[in-house]
Amino acid sequence: MKKCQVLVIGGGGAGLTAALYTSRAKLSTILVEKLVPGGQIALTDLVENYPGFPEGILGPEISSRMEEQAKRYGTEILFHEVKSLEINDGGFLIKSTDEDLWAQSIILAAGASFRMLNIPGEKELTGKGVSYCATCDGAFFKDKEIVVIGGGDSALQEGLFLTRFASKVTIVHRRDKLRASPILQQRARENSKIKFIWDTVLEKIEGPSKVSSVLLKNIKTGESQVFKAEGVFIFIGHDPNTGFLKNFVQLDDHGYVQCRESLKTSVPGVFAAGEIRAGAVKQLVAACGEGCEAALSAQEYLEHV
Ligand code: NAP
Repeated sequence: MKKCQVLVIGGGGAGLTAALYTSRAKLSTILVEKLVPGGQIALTDLVENYPGFPEGILGPEISSRMEEQAKRYGTEILFHEVKSLEINDGGFLIKSTDEDLWAQSIILAAGASFRMLNIPGEKELTGKGVSYCATCDGAFFKDKEIVVIGGGDSALQEGLFLTRFASKVTIVHRRDKLRASPILQQRARENSKIKFIWDTVLEKIEGPSKVSSVLLKNIKTGESQVFKAEGVFIFIGHDPNTGFLKNFVQLDDHGYVQCRESLKTSVPGVFAAGEIRAGAVKQLVAACGEGCEAALSAQEYLEHV
């Protein structure tokens, strides 16, 4: 069984930064990632608000640079899905899909996953016109009409990206005010390919073999309409990836990890950083900052056990 001093769960900005810091502190570090390193950033087109890149930097580029940097100082990256954690022999036993691992301390940085609408047609047509990733799937929608669901930063940023391909992008939002930052709102309003439908929810996605239309309902008037769309991109927020942590650390009512000072969780030796943490601001720069703080806390913990 592989053993290490610090096990980082999750390879997004928080996890990769934590691993960089613990590796540079000469603590043996394993980072476990379920899919590809980079987390949500790897699925983002352009990151424009990470300091030091005035022209912006491509999401996949900054994540692969972070991965390279952590590896350069000794981080070992394993591609497993963690199933459960338990206290064991002065440290922790980590059960994953592939192998068991043992660590003296743990940094939880598994982030969050996109939320689904759970409406008829959504599951059945995912990959057949329904998508949660504009960077991955946008190019399939050249000259097509698509709808984007949501009113936050993701919906607008990804909606703007989709105008490179689509002939028309209609943003459907359940209120008449956007949650997104003013700069994205301005860009979206100025883009001639983007239209908005307000106070409206998606009730059904029609197929049968690929998306052909959606059923929209205005929640103020109660009126429904069939709206032509060949693509549906859903950006309605995220839920924390904490299924494997139930009954291990304290979570809040929404399933996020509760932390005390210095990013300590309810279990000594276990720390949390980034979007998995209750109260996190969900920005890459903040996730990296938290990764650093969790790494320093783990380092201090290991000096005293
Ligand atoms: P978000 O800020 O939570 O916004 C989710 C949007 O989806 C909201 O407009 C919400 O409507 C809507 N929504 C939620 N549940 C819905 C449902 N069941 N049906 C219809 N609409 C629903 O999520 P996000 O846009 O993914 O952003 C997450 C975090 O990442 C935010 O902190 C954001 O600032 C950050 N982020 C930043 C950037 C950037 O800095 N450029 C880019 C992407 C994301 P209501 O407004 O009515 O609640």
